[in-house]
Amino acid sequence: MAHESTWSKYRVAIVGAGPAGCICAKYLSEAGFEITLFDKGKFLRTLLPTGGGRCNLAHAEYDFRELAKNYPRGEKFLYSVFSRFGTQDTIDFFKNIGVKTYTQEDNRIFPVSNLATDVREKFLKSISKCSFAREGVNEISPISNGWKIQTNNNSYLFDYVIVATGGHAGYELLKKLDIKIQPPTQALVGLTTEEDLSQLSGVKVANAEVKIDKKTYKGDILFTHHGVSGPVIYTISSIYARKEFPYEMSFKFADFTDMPQYFLEKSRMEVCNQLKPYVPKSLTKYILTTLGKEPDIAGTWLGRTSHQKLLNTLENFKLHINGKMKNGEVVTCGGVDLKEINAKTLESKQYRGLYFCGEVLDIDGLCGGFNLQNCWSTGFIAAQSIIEN
Ligand SMILES: Cc1cc2nc3c(=O)[nH]c(=O)nc-3n(C[C@H](O)[C@H](O)[C@H](O)COP(=O)(O)OP(=O)(O)OC[C@H]3O[C@@H](n4cnc5c(N)ncnc54)[C@H](O)[C@@H]3O)c2cc1C
Repeated sequence: MAHESTWSKYRVAIVGAGPAGCICAKYLSEAGFEITLFDKGKFLRTLLPTGGGRCNLAHAEYDFRELAKNYPRGEKFLYSVFSRFGTQDTIDFFKNIGVKTYTQEDNRIFPVSNLATDVREKFLKSISKCSFAREGVNEISPISNGWKIQTNNNSYLFDYVIVATGGHAGYELLKKLDIKIQPPTQALVGLTTEEDLSQLSGVKVANAEVKIDKKTYKGDILFTHHGVSGPVIYTISSIYARKEFPYEMSFKFADFTDMPQYFLEKSRMEVCNQLKPYVPKSLTKYILTTLGKEPDIAGTWLGRTSHQKLLNTLENFKLHINGKMKNGEVVTCGGVDLKEINAKTLESKQYRGLYFCGEVLDIDGLCGGFNLQNCWSTGFIAAQSIIEN
């Protein structure tokens, strides 16, 4: 049966118990606020798959402007946020709740346990004084001097509401408040191609160069059943998240400038074996097939023209991108328009007492701990603004 709880001055509703909502809960409950965390699912479950189960919780970039450069959406907005809560604050926060961290060679920061389950457990313990409502919120509405939260079975009254519903759901709630949303689309995903690459599925190429719109990106590539994936593709899918399909990308898989002249033609060895120090055998075989040659052909049988064509193709392999895959880190490009939000407080410009943090905002970062950093930093600022109000 629906009920309305009694009014109390310092009650805060946090809608969404993901990383962003939970860090707000920690700071606000410490400051003596009465917190109710609403989530339709298991609390902090979205932390579990992060970093492949290891939880890449931050990136070792300590200059706030440099850190902000890793956000294709939100860079400037994040200056004031990161200047007040940056990477070192994240490390200190986790140390305080019993999670020691270390920095990997590539500057990604992980818990020493390498376990997202451990981070989740300690995090939840640190906010155990909060009330946990396992309920989906259907409506958030302003009332005189506060806010009403409506779930399927209950309605509640609060002084403040923090929306931390993430990128995958929650926009419906905000439409009723007439808050402008930048249309959501996926970022940090693999890309599908017009070309059938199923033969190459599972093949990895280290340190390839990828060209798109005259810009070059470098990194590892993984061919998948329907296209291409891997770190450099995730970066591109993020930077070009709103680019219209289809578009062309070209790949330089290897640099043959140091290869002895006529190397291939002079050898009886199979071409794919000769090129093995440069590119995976299966990739050479695939390209030979597209050139109408036997995949196991020996160098002496290849002929000078085909030899040159093969090398040219490996140095300038074109693919036509026609969509996004569903795997990857999958963060949302889009969300609450940053023009709606005060960057210093994370309060809505339209509504007093309504705050936003985490991925629900139109902020998303590259791979490497940047998306969680956004949650920790914006979560801290939203909580701090309520504390200082
Ligand atoms: C596979 C994977 C791996 C990733 N790895 C990393 C990584 O290693 N490092 C990194 O920095 N980032 C990583 N990310 C991104 C990162 O997990 C997200 O950016 C982050 O979880 C966003 O946190 P959030 O609190 O804003 O939202 P979420 O984590 O999405 O949490 C939002 C919560 O709100 C709840 N909710 C939504 N609507 C309602 C409603 N109406 N009522 C009640 N509850 C509601 C949801 O159930 C959810 O629990 C990864 C993402 C994925 C998918």
